[in-house]
Amino acid sequence: MAAHSTYLGRFAPSPSGALHFGSLIAALGSFLQARSCCGQWHVRIEDIDPPREVPGAAETILRQLTHYGLYWDGPVVYQSQRSQAYLDVLADLAQRGLSYHCDCTRARIQHLGGCYDGHCRQRHLAAHNTAVRLHQTLPVLGFHDRLCGDIQADPALAREDFIIRRRDGLFAYNLAVVVDDAALGVTEVVRGADLIEPTVRQLALYRQLGYKEPGYLHLPLVLTADGTKLSKQNHAPALCDGDPRPILADALVFLNQPLTQGWRDMSLESMVDWAIMHWSLATIPISPQGTTHAHAFSKGAG
Ligand code: GLU
Ligand code: ZN
Repeated sequence: MAAHSTYLGRFAPSPSGALHFGSLIAALGSFLQARSCCGQWHVRIEDIDPPREVPGAAETILRQLTHYGLYWDGPVVYQSQRSQAYLDVLADLAQRGLSYHCDCTRARIQHLGGCYDGHCRQRHLAAHNTAVRLHQTLPVLGFHDRLCGDIQADPALAREDFIIRRRDGLFAYNLAVVVDDAALGVTEVVRGADLIEPTVRQLALYRQLGYKEPGYLHLPLVLTADGTKLSKQNHAPALCDGDPRPILADALVFLNQPLTQGWRDMSLESMVDWAIMHWSLATIPISPQGTTHAHAFSKGAG
């Protein structure tokens, strides 16, 4: 048995479609980082946005993870089962005067230049067709990323009273992700660089709620040939159901990890073990502020 470790990492996919090469990078990177620290690795299905959910996608994602040899610890957490925890935190923030209802239209905020001005802070609106915003008293303007270094946020956006519960009643991603990562005891969040931007908002919530902050490590994004993020929205192909090893090899190459020449003769398990043993943060390419990436991915090594 490996040495005891208090490291706890996670992979938190939204079930809006099957995993594609880009989401495999986040899954694999967070998995290898956790396992190389002899830590735990958990999976959470972020199914708090029913309109964007694809039926069966959660099951597909879990099946894909095991197909690629990425086995998780503990029970899978489903955000759809966590409403009471979110409601408790919302009630606590409201009771401490740290949130308020807002009925401002998207058009009004666009007119302001896209950043909300705190207009409804003192209006004491009742909950009726309103969003709930965090009253920011402890904004976070930057953070240290283990891979990307010191990140400075746009101060206006970092100070904005952002939405923690949507007008349609759905819980906001920033709220749910903080409540759940804290409840799970996540020590380090490893995910794609597209999530660098909301990190300061999440850290502001950690402060307001008095939770212990995790570390952050944002992995490079897989870009399409025209430089946009490979995503379900731009129809990234789902990972194939065939031999997982060539795709795994591609993913390790993308993360600039050493790859043994012998992987073709290895079992999936030995290949994953080899990758854990040789995992190296120092060689991962860095995503500057998560907006660009040094090399675009072209499919088909292996
Ligand atoms: N559910 C989010 C996504 O699929 C990721 C959340 C996170 O890792 O913080 O993009
Ligand atoms: Zn408002």
